Amino acid sequence: MINETYRRLGEERSVIREIFEYANARKRAIGEENVFDFSLGNPSVPPPAALNDALVQLVRQTPPVALHGYTSAAGAPDVRAAVARYFNEAFGVPLPPELVYMTCGAAASLTIALHALCEAGDEFVVVAPYFPEYRVFIESAGGRVAEAPADARFHLDLSALDRAIGARTKAVLLNSPNNPTGAVYTAQELAALAALLRKKSAARGAPVFLISDEPYRELTYGAPVPQPMTFYEHTIVCYSFSKSLSLAGERIGYLAVSPRCDGAAALFAAVCGAGRALGYVCAPTLFQRVCARFLGESGDVSAYRDNRDLLYGALRSFGFCCTPPEGAFYLFVRSPEASATAFCERAKRYELLLVPSDSFGAGGYARISYCVPRAVIERALPAFGRLAADYGLRGEVCTRAK
Ligand code: PLP
Repeated sequence: MINETYRRLGEERSVIREIFEYANARKRAIGEENVFDFSLGNPSVPPPAALNDALVQLVRQTPPVALHGYTSAAGAPDVRAAVARYFNEAFGVPLPPELVYMTCGAAASLTIALHALCEAGDEFVVVAPYFPEYRVFIESAGGRVAEAPADARFHLDLSALDRAIGARTKAVLLNSPNNPTGAVYTAQELAALAALLRKKSAARGAPVFLISDEPYRELTYGAPVPQPMTFYEHTIVCYSFSKSLSLAGERIGYLAVSPRCDGAAALFAAVCGAGRALGYVCAPTLFQRVCARFLGESGDVSAYRDNRDLLYGALRSFGFCCTPPEGAFYLFVRSPEASATAFCERAKRYELLLVPSDSFGAGGYARISYCVPRAVIERALPAFGRLAADYGLRGEVCTRAK
């Protein structure tokens, strides 16, 4: 009668959104200031001040149809040209506008890329832990997920990737700066990965693609964020302005196919076809135009850095084990008991709303999204202290990195 796969997806919802809804219900019940919602990656830092000015100026000065009307399916030509110019200037990649597709955020970029690539029997390798929606996106495109665990610092484990990439692997899906760990992969790691992918492509007799999911590209606390497209020819970049410019609700991003990709034009045609089939044509016109003026920019990253320092320092002093995030705005804390779900349930007693790691492809952790106002973290620290005491943790006793 109806599609049962989609029904199941709709009914179970994502764990993250489930907790977000629970947080909202608790806020209504006991007051907003008494609930510490660390579930969703919903940026609290405002967009750059100039963005509001640009928005107002565009609204006042642009004829309505150029602002609110349809653009070409792949996006407005001048906006695609601006993205291409940005890749040339920022990364030295000779990206032509013809290989840029404007999308509704990274989710659309990823689903389009996956649908464009996936044929029957294909596998997509993800580095675990990973953003839980990857599984939904890959399986909905008809692919199979293959997990390659990250190393002890949540960086790339080349041996694990070597084992995971096989004859059926169509692409590796990478995310740096990373959700949920905050890892930022280095140039050396990307070079080693590129060498591995070339070896695997030769063995397979067809390219193993790299899908680079980059919604946190600008959100780094000092670590350089190398552009994967400069290391590997068969790369598709999936970008979003949701986090960098705090525009998550505007649903705007882009996809770029490397000009060095074998058959780049055919692949881009498949991107357009996938966008068409999925109904992702003509990304929001007003925000295409706004974002074209803010390429490479971000809100105040120092606010996230301050949050990270405050939270990481306090959690360590309470005796929790965690790795300092190098970018994005998530902290992945080790659960003091085997079950991450049990840990998060116990945290709920203190109104601390954390996301258990099981759906991220790694048991035994909780994700704390710290893109919240600093005052929320300040108010939450005593609750984290009580949670630590509940487990009998003592300050700075964790010696493990992970
Ligand atoms: N990829 C990762 C790693 C994310 O963390 C998110 C959102 O949190 C997305 C993709 C989806 O981003 P968007 O909201 O731009 O669709």
